[in-house]
Amino acid sequence: MSSTAQHPAPAPPPPEEANEWRTAQTQFDNAAEIIGLEPELRAILREVQREFTCHFPVRMDDGSVRIFTGYRVQHNINRGPAKGGLRYHPDVSLDEVKALAMWMTWKCAVVSIPYGGAKGGVIVDPRQLSANELEHLTRRFATEISVLIGPDRDIPAPDVNTDPQIMAWFMDTMSMHAGYSVTATVTGKPIDVGGSLGRLEATGRGVMICTVAALEKLGLKPHQVRVAVQGFGNVGSVSARLLEEAGCIVVAVSEDYGGIHNPLGLTVKRVQEYRQQEKTLTGFPGTQEISNQDLLHVDCDVLVPAAIGNQLTSRTAPDVKAKLIVEGANGPTTPEADEIFRRRGILLVPDILANAGGVTVSYFEWVQDLQSFFWSEHEVNQKLGAIMHRAFKEVLSTSEERKIDMRMAAYVQAVSRVAAATRERGLYP
Ligand code: NAD
Repeated sequence: MSSTAQHPAPAPPPPEEANEWRTAQTQFDNAAEIIGLEPELRAILREVQREFTCHFPVRMDDGSVRIFTGYRVQHNINRGPAKGGLRYHPDVSLDEVKALAMWMTWKCAVVSIPYGGAKGGVIVDPRQLSANELEHLTRRFATEISVLIGPDRDIPAPDVNTDPQIMAWFMDTMSMHAGYSVTATVTGKPIDVGGSLGRLEATGRGVMICTVAALEKLGLKPHQVRVAVQGFGNVGSVSARLLEEAGCIVVAVSEDYGGIHNPLGLTVKRVQEYRQQEKTLTGFPGTQEISNQDLLHVDCDVLVPAAIGNQLTSRTAPDVKAKLIVEGANGPTTPEADEIFRRRGILLVPDILANAGGVTVSYFEWVQDLQSFFWSEHEVNQKLGAIMHRAFKEVLSTSEERKIDMRMAAYVQAVSRVAAATRERGLYP
């Protein structure tokens, strides 16, 4: 389904704000300035290390052959193997993948897990493909980027429009090439083939943990706040459900075609069941339809953007009502919108902290696969909670000590750690 005139998408960002790579580099430059990073390290870290583009054929169900374009980018691998999701979306571009790879480097450093940052994507609308075509596209794309991929080199995971089934095909393809099962080559797999308990919910769980911690900082209890969530995929739906379980009132959720609103609150589990059955949120009993633009501006206390990038811009930020924004999505806020939120005193928990739960449990999955020793869901959630709470506390105290916002505080932590690793390893040759 696409946006209609009745349900317009949020006002598009002004052209100068539309490029995620420019956003990522601006954020990095600001952080480098704050920590007084030496010029050589600035030059190294503001670029990606490797960018790989491939154009590959897939045989479609009608017998024709279509050429697709895909990317895999590694930003920095000084702290460990590259790690980052694979996105299937018509708007994927090299600049977007570069930005997402750089954010992965910072994210892994914020939560202190031993990975570098990577990202991949294919320009495709998977809803236009049959399951058979999707499998062939995935297996061929896996083969194309396999020159970079492996458990000790670069480990993909799910992102927008990719799921455990796609990760299973990816892992199977890599395993067929190797001649034996290489489960640790990708994370976010189904449990039967080396996935981790708790991975499916991990990003949303991290979002919930950060939201509750940020509310505490604002002197609010979960039951006192109303939440709006943009995006009802993996991150959005789990965040909404866990926030409701934590006591919050979820008043609105949306997908790319629009969303639903009930000022008195939705029962998220029922919305999930309805979405599963009807393949749409529209028509959920007792709710009004709203556009994605309206969702961002709905009367609420907490806004969780959990869809795609560039949603909160200089055009949409002035009308946001929430006092707390927790970024489930990567790059939903442009630097211009950040400035508006700072001026308006809105607290924002940035993506590289708020959605780091996903890569944290991906790390657990990789460790479990390498050891062939699997943990209980309780153990996974407990370890995830400890890491997220510690990271949130560190970022908050950096923000308070240096009198900078949470995004810059997270960057200060992350860039300092990656810079230290890069400095200590020295310049090869
Ligand atoms: P998903 O494919 O499961 O869901 C995406 C959701 O966004 C869908 O509900 C879709 O309808 C909605 N959407 C797409 N375009 C939209 C638009 N223009 N306006 C409003 N809604 C739109 O993807 P996901 O895995 O939930 O990822 C969502 C975001 O979270 C992405 O930014 C992703 O990079 C980020 N993220 C995901 C993970 C993860 O573990 N999956 C981890 C960290 C960050």
